[in-house]
Amino acid sequence: MALQTYFADMHIHIGRDMYQKPVKITGSKSLTLTNILKECSRNKGIDLVGVIDSHAPAVQQEIRQLIGAKDAYELTDGGIRFEKVTLLLGSEIEVYDESCQGPIHVLCYFPTLETIERFSQWLTTRMKNITLSSQRYYGTAKELQYKVKELEGIFIPAHVFTPFKSMYGKGVKRSLTEVLDPDLIDGIELGLSSDTGMADQIKELHDYTFVSNSDAHSLAKIAREYQEVLMEEPSFKEFYWALHQVNGREITRNFGMNPQLGKYHTTVCKDCLHALSPEQKQCPACGSTKIIKGVADRIKELKDTKEVIERPPYLYQVPLEYLPTLGPKTFEKLLSHFQTEMNIIHHVPMSQLKTVVPEKLAQSIIHMREGKLAIKAGGGGKYGSITPIN
Ligand SMILES: [Zn+2]
Ligand SMILES: [Zn+2]
Repeated sequence: MALQTYFADMHIHIGRDMYQKPVKITGSKSLTLTNILKECSRNKGIDLVGVIDSHAPAVQQEIRQLIGAKDAYELTDGGIRFEKVTLLLGSEIEVYDESCQGPIHVLCYFPTLETIERFSQWLTTRMKNITLSSQRYYGTAKELQYKVKELEGIFIPAHVFTPFKSMYGKGVKRSLTEVLDPDLIDGIELGLSSDTGMADQIKELHDYTFVSNSDAHSLAKIAREYQEVLMEEPSFKEFYWALHQVNGREITRNFGMNPQLGKYHTTVCKDCLHALSPEQKQCPACGSTKIIKGVADRIKELKDTKEVIERPPYLYQVPLEYLPTLGPKTFEKLLSHFQTEMNIIHHVPMSQLKTVVPEKLAQSIIHMREGKLAIKAGGGGKYGSITPIN
């Protein structure tokens, strides 16, 4: 079989399990495993999806049910196929080991239902409640890495720069080797407030493939960040190969929000969200000394190289619904003509777009495809915005 590109979003939460019980408490009620699979296959056009609350026993039960009803089946190379999408079974875990300065989030993925069930069993001895999302794990980060590798899983530190619950945000002072075994890391998740260029200012990250994922807490947010992966087919093994550039497999492009659109881009006062310079220790607006260091300022502190390495391009995108003049009705119309969001963003030619939506909007979609969308920088705790193109 020939290599082909596929779209992958590897960080989706579960809002509710099949009994309507919360998994990610802040997640949306319609964010169930089955709805995620349908949304990716039918509307988003995502070919490979990582659901990182798959350690929850009720989620595993739902998968067993889908397989039992012949709506899904396990692939020989790992992963579960449902209609046009392949599901990778994952788990996001909060680690707080002795050497950490604060909690860090990591992502683990497993090839089969059987291996993630074994992982869940092991987790019950290190976690108070495995029915919930991103729970605190009691043990060292390295022990967790060894367990994941014993089960032939994939290990990726999550949203590594966000000010809370991330490796460089709080977890380590300077180097990931303070907490993790660098040889047992399969990739690095950039997170919504950083991109390839920012992350490459840290030398030790040059060894790893970058992934860009949505961290979706609702169906609508799926694929606000994602990547294009060159593989033979979407499966666990092929994705693992892509992370390590084996046999021509690789990530070919990362797509994500412009970091300036992220609300953690700049340093702000925790109490009133007033924008601060990195040197300011106290907020001139309200006097508070609680400061949330922005991702850009944190990376400046950690920066230790100017060397530029070869990477897949990182293209700035926004979810389609954020485009000016694209209301829900137009969105429906686009989907009914061109099936999936990925088709609309990446494949449908201008000539066809124009037959369904006004030329100006069609032009914005093409601009987005080329990574040329005009963006007004956010700051002071506020999200940035998209400038209409005239
Ligand atoms: Zn997280
Ligand atoms: Zn998450």
